[in-house]
Amino acid sequence: MCGVDREREKGVCLCGAEPIVNRAALHSYEEPPVSGTRGSGTIFFGGCIMRCDFCQNYRISRNPVGRSYTPRELSELYKRLESEGAHNINFVSATQWTDAVIESFKFYRPKVPVVWNTSGYERAETVERLQEFVDIWLPDFKYSSEELGRKLSGRSNYPLTALNAISLMRKLSRDRYVQGIMQSGLIIRHLVLPGYLSNSFGVLDMIKKEIGTQTTVSIMSQFTPPECSEIILRRLKPIEYKAVVRYAEKAGFGNAYIQELDSADSSYTPPFEI
Ligand code: SF4
Repeated sequence: MCGVDREREKGVCLCGAEPIVNRAALHSYEEPPVSGTRGSGTIFFGGCIMRCDFCQNYRISRNPVGRSYTPRELSELYKRLESEGAHNINFVSATQWTDAVIESFKFYRPKVPVVWNTSGYERAETVERLQEFVDIWLPDFKYSSEELGRKLSGRSNYPLTALNAISLMRKLSRDRYVQGIMQSGLIIRHLVLPGYLSNSFGVLDMIKKEIGTQTTVSIMSQFTPPECSEIILRRLKPIEYKAVVRYAEKAGFGNAYIQELDSADSSYTPPFEI
């Protein structure tokens, strides 16, 4: 959509034509039914279609370093992660590589669930194209405020774009668990940002109104100001996080994952290869 031919030059995602993977490994810091006991087979892609001031993965989202993979090579990664015991294959910020990911499934379809771990800034067409392959939708819902979306991520149309995409994900999936491990469905993540509580309340209001309070939400407290951040420079206060959790409870969200406040620790950021 940025109008660039990525065979010739880089797009707003800072990526060319071939997928860049920085890290593919078992990861234990997703929500409990996604990480399970053995870990989620997480593939961290380089580049990103957003430009978040506070990106915890900025070392690879703003500088897509890693190795190039063909679709066939990507499919080999899925086999390797499965053999290591992954509960699922988890695509992190792969939107800019949607074509290559879909092509990779011609070579191998994972036997475990496929997770689409996304900023939420997805076109409905992309969600529709992926529905045949994705079992678990794991979108962020970052902003209810257009102004904040522009200020912190450079995307003023974020709220309605995300709402539209996540509503569609809801329609396309049914929550299913086997022995506590998620097999299909939707978990909406919201990272509470220091100083922007009304944004969080607005996100919960939008989910309640358009998607419903039966939906599982993951209210995240793990904000650590990264070095790249120019706007948000402090940590979340416990009182801020508690206010958002209370708001969600009052609104009737019965299926919410709440984090311990000691999650706000940069050790939760994966060890990227830079
Ligand atoms: S969407 Fe996620 S990965 Fe992309 S810039 Fe924002 S926080 Fe970083």
